[in-house]
Amino acid sequence: VKPAELTLLRPADVTECLDALAGDAVVKVIAGGQSLMPLLALRMSTPDTLVDIGRVGELAGVARSSRTVELGARVRHRELVDGSVGPLPAVLARAAAHIGHDAIRNRGTLGGSLAHADPAAELPAVMVLLEAEIVCRSRAAGTRTIPAREFFVGPYTTTLRDDELLVVVRVPRPKTGVRYGFVEFSPRHGDYARAGAACAVHVDGTVRRVDAVLFAVGTTPVDVSAAFAEVPGRAVAECPWDALAAAAVAGLPPGDQDTAARHRLATVALRRALRQAVEGGTR
Ligand SMILES: Cc1cc2nc3c(=O)[nH]c(=O)nc-3n(C[C@H](O)[C@H](O)[C@H](O)COP(=O)(O)OP(=O)(O)OC[C@H]3O[C@@H](n4cnc5c(N)ncnc54)[C@H](O)[C@@H]3O)c2cc1C
Repeated sequence: VKPAELTLLRPADVTECLDALAGDAVVKVIAGGQSLMPLLALRMSTPDTLVDIGRVGELAGVARSSRTVELGARVRHRELVDGSVGPLPAVLARAAAHIGHDAIRNRGTLGGSLAHADPAAELPAVMVLLEAEIVCRSRAAGTRTIPAREFFVGPYTTTLRDDELLVVVRVPRPKTGVRYGFVEFSPRHGDYARAGAACAVHVDGTVRRVDAVLFAVGTTPVDVSAAFAEVPGRAVAECPWDALAAAAVAGLPPGDQDTAARHRLATVALRRALRQAVEGGTR
């Protein structure tokens, strides 16, 4: 099947993109096309106009401040994996390496993955873990900065408005004393995860804080950090990591057989991610 007839726009800058999104027509942004093209081909998405952001150079940039790295929406998965965008919390490269295959990572973009909001996708979960901020722009509302944890509201659903363009993702710079873990299970490498876990263990002599986010087990990334509330102040070796992982997943709403199977996988993924983090982890 081929996409329904539509108008293709190829704006040169963000202002032109926002003008295109501001009209009455049904308009969709296309970035890497790795998720949208199949939907167009199957006619599950039938916009009047497609706005191809592939020529908008300002969306591909990277800017650094003392505390954050601002990644343009068009930064590709491959750039996160190969580190060419500069030092980032290493959990990002680990997570991005699990997305599809080379051909998909060469085209797929950070902004596209976040806007698509697949509950089994890696990058939304990592952005929640890192407390990243998502910066969007529209002609009507100007610039909006949305914490990642408020951005994902359901399967394939975000707080992005139809006339908004995701422009930048603001990620904290790597911090000393924070170790990350990332583990996912999928039927084959490159497939979407059946269950996965990303965690950050903050250590300063003793454990100061643990953040953990699961994916592919709910309708959005699931923050289970509350399960680690008793950990601060304890020595790394004294924390019952496996029991904590089990308790974190046990707190999820139960479901059908498939949900139960995913929960079992998520427990193992979180256990292994925590072990990765405390045994050295990625910075
Ligand atoms: C075989 C295969 C396997 C895959 N496996 C995985 C996987 O394991 N994990 C995973 O996470 N993904 C996977 N993907 C999806 C892939 O990572 C996509 O690249 C990603 O989900 C979307 O990025 P994109 O740039 O291709 O976005 P597009 O497909 O171009 O767009 C996706 C959606 O985002 C919107 N959008 C894009 N950019 C913007 C923007 N700047 N502002 C506002 N809206 C925007 C579009 O309108 C569309 O709704 C797979 C894809 C394929 C084909």
